[in-house]
Amino acid sequence: MMIKDFNVDKTQKDRSDISYITEIRKYKEEFKYMTFYDALTGLPNYAMLKNEINKLIDKKEKKDKFAITYIDIDNFKYINDTLGHKVGDEFLKYIANNLNAEIEAPNLVARLGGDEFAIIFSDIQSNELLLEKIERIKHNTSKTWSVNKYQFFVSMSIGVVIYPDNGDNITTLFKNADIAMYAAKREGKDKVLFYKKELSENNLWHIQMAHKIQSGIENEEFKLYYQPQFKLNTGEIIGVEALVRWIHPKEGFIPPMEFIPLAEETGQIYSIERWIIKNALQQKKQWEEQGLNHLELSINLSSKTLTSKVNFQQIEDLILSFNVDYSKVTLEITETAIISNVEPVIERLNRLKKKGLKIALDDFGTGYSSLTHLKKLPIDIIKLDRSFIDSIVENSKDTMIVKYMLSLAHDLKYKVVAEGIETREQLKYLKKHYCDSGQGYLLSKPLCKEEVNKLVKASFKFN
Ligand code: C2E
Ligand code: CA
Ligand code: CA
Repeated sequence: MMIKDFNVDKTQKDRSDISYITEIRKYKEEFKYMTFYDALTGLPNYAMLKNEINKLIDKKEKKDKFAITYIDIDNFKYINDTLGHKVGDEFLKYIANNLNAEIEAPNLVARLGGDEFAIIFSDIQSNELLLEKIERIKHNTSKTWSVNKYQFFVSMSIGVVIYPDNGDNITTLFKNADIAMYAAKREGKDKVLFYKKELSENNLWHIQMAHKIQSGIENEEFKLYYQPQFKLNTGEIIGVEALVRWIHPKEGFIPPMEFIPLAEETGQIYSIERWIIKNALQQKKQWEEQGLNHLELSINLSSKTLTSKVNFQQIEDLILSFNVDYSKVTLEITETAIISNVEPVIERLNRLKKKGLKIALDDFGTGYSSLTHLKKLPIDIIKLDRSFIDSIVENSKDTMIVKYMLSLAHDLKYKVVAEGIETREQLKYLKKHYCDSGQGYLLSKPLCKEEVNKLVKASFKFN
């Protein structure tokens, strides 16, 4: 909607005809509409929401409670990135309509901007009933959305604050609602969380950590280690998996599980991953120059990168700029990326496969997919998760599962890599059942590049 010029011609101002007054009234209404309503969805906007909350705070006796919920659509960025903003806008309208259909006065739903919405509940009786109501709204709103030939499973992360328990002014309430909403995302999304004090403390830790990661990126505090992978029937090293290490100047070693999930959340993973890929492939090039052409290299690729059109393209260009033997490079991906967005992910992986790269499915057995279901994905290698290997102990029933998975994987023509081999017993069992290759502390811990060089040059074999 265009903003109209209110400084109407002076001569018109003296006119007192009806049409002029009606026009002014219309302008005023349009102006009010623009100030208090969202142009895309027609829902009340942030300004209106603030007004309404201030009214409630002014009006209410301190004991009268009301709730504000912050709603953020999970993975909305993905829709925007892959299908463009126009489709993204359609999606937001769809969500707005769904939400609006669930809300009755005096409650109110507003769009805060982007993919964020908020609801004020001014008629709450108890937190339990409120939670029930929010869960119901969430359920009714989270229907599958179809566009072109795509289907999206809609889910949302929701943070809730109660006035006056979680804040007696609008600033604190908004801040805490935001904290609760982010905590819901962090706990795996598709969730409703009520604010509590511990969330703030946790949040502070996350903010500090995100700053630390940033300076870690700028100061190049990361280092790559390589865990050797062995062919089980001969004992030879066939390749290495690159694993990132963060050596913080003050705090020392920070394990990847402590910063990768957070970096994925903040988007910092993209720059970390570019750094990892650049360094790993430079190392591969060096190994080739030293005559170690046979050494294969596996690199982990986060689901975030795999599901982001723009970031994947950058990574793809980067990978292909190294001119190494790509048939000896594997990308390790996890199921989370494929489950919700099968088609674009398959297309991206196939582009890399055309250049010779192989794709490994990491942590297999921890997710939801069955082996047969995976058949339509362009995967060459299955990495059996450590938890399975752990279960290999004498006479354990779980051990049978490993045997069954190995034979099924082979029938389906996958190569299998066992992860986290720690005991001789596990190794023996895996060899007996024709597991192709493996890695684990029993065989070798992750090593720095110099140690890898020594091992490979000495033609180290385990037995
Ligand atoms: P992952 O890809 O499953 O990596 C294997 C993890 O198991 C590594 O932990 C490795 O050090 C550890 N490990 C290897 N052998 C054994 C064993 O015998 N016993 C036990 N208990 N553990 C073993 P790490 O390096 O701490 O990495 C943890 C996770 O962090 C990785 O799991 C991966 O998901 C992520 N990660 C690590 N490096 C990268 C990276 O460069 N990029 C990305 N995107 N993620 C990474
Ligand atoms: Ca891995
Ligand atoms: Ca793994």
